[in-house]
Amino acid sequence: MAEGLPALGWAARDASGHLSPYSFSRSVPKDDDVTIKVLFCGICHTDLHIIKNDWGNALYPIVPGHEIVGVVASVGSGVSSFKAGDTVGVGYFLDSCRTCYSCSKGYENFCPTLTLTSNGVDGGGATTQGGFSDVLVVNKDYVIRVPDNLPLAGAAPLLCAGVTVYSPMVEYGLNAPGKHLGVVGLGGLGHVAVKFGKAFGMTVTVISSSDRKRDEALGRLGADAFLVSSDPEQMKAAAGTMDGIIDTVSAGHPIVPLLDLLKPMGQMVVVGAPSKPLELPAFAIIGGGKRLAGSGTGSVAHCQAMLDFAGKHGITADVEVVKMDYGQHRHRAAREERRQVPLRHRRRRQPPAGHRRLTCATQCGRALVWSRKRFAGSQPHEQVNESLVCCLSSFHIWDAVPDFHVK
Ligand SMILES: [Zn+2]
Ligand SMILES: [Zn+2]
Repeated sequence: MAEGLPALGWAARDASGHLSPYSFSRSVPKDDDVTIKVLFCGICHTDLHIIKNDWGNALYPIVPGHEIVGVVASVGSGVSSFKAGDTVGVGYFLDSCRTCYSCSKGYENFCPTLTLTSNGVDGGGATTQGGFSDVLVVNKDYVIRVPDNLPLAGAAPLLCAGVTVYSPMVEYGLNAPGKHLGVVGLGGLGHVAVKFGKAFGMTVTVISSSDRKRDEALGRLGADAFLVSSDPEQMKAAAGTMDGIIDTVSAGHPIVPLLDLLKPMGQMVVVGAPSKPLELPAFAIIGGGKRLAGSGTGSVAHCQAMLDFAGKHGITADVEVVKMDYGQHRHRAAREERRQVPLRHRRRRQPPAGHRRLTCATQCGRALVWSRKRFAGSQPHEQVNESLVCCLSSFHIWDAVPDFHVK
């Protein structure tokens, strides 16, 4: 068997939340494959669930990441749609069966044998390793073109969070100027939904459980109104006014008060995934003929259309860009502060040229040498290749993965 393409990623090896360097092989690029040098990768909530094995399905060691933006390094002889140097993206999945009902209808995101970009199983039975890595090999049909004008860091989360809200908006006609859209929750998905809604020319109301995000919604994001869902007066006043609602909240919450906000024949779409079942008394949708749907990520075509639309309207996700070593310092400082003890033994020997030294953030205090060159390669964008992007506004991966460190 031919040797695979050497790759270096950051893998979770257990549910502790630690990610550490991991050398592995990408498949040998085939004629219809695109080899992508990863520049940015978003941190999706799904990644955090996988890292911590919240769903009991983590295929350790696992390299997370499915909101990937990079540059084409090379293409196979059968690829004419992309060339070296193109800026491209890869989202939640990187292959599907191509023959099932969903695939034949252009809904390959609902293919029962979808190959996920990370923590999936590919055609050869190997675990798929995601975008927290330096290189990716993907079939040309699952590669998305990223418009030149979009800042790449902010474009990365669009590959999952963006298409997850854009796809149902288009599918259910919640993209028509003048219509009134409600967006429930203002996290990674919600804030992008507001931007798309405004770009579609809609009236957008943000619905949130508290007043905390009012300024962000009405100010920077340009929403038209803000509704506190825990305030019955406000909710009553807004009843029957919305054409559609995108519910992005993944914590358990009642949906009947949200359905009350819809006009007759209004459409609500659930894209957040609370672990507890939704409570839905039949009368909440019978009166007014209301409709409730779910949606998950989006097809390749929707993803491309979404990015093209985002490029045209200058839409990106709000991101905080963090380097892969950022957590070492921040986490170490926080831990030391907590323990009120000084950092133990630091090694004084200088690392060899081209390498830098990191200190283990656990109690062992061990120093280790980490080669920049493995990440940097000879392509441009050297420094961003080590970066991750947080796709959730006001959200730090270190809060969610507090023990993220180099072993
Ligand atoms: Zn995601
Ligand atoms: Zn299929």
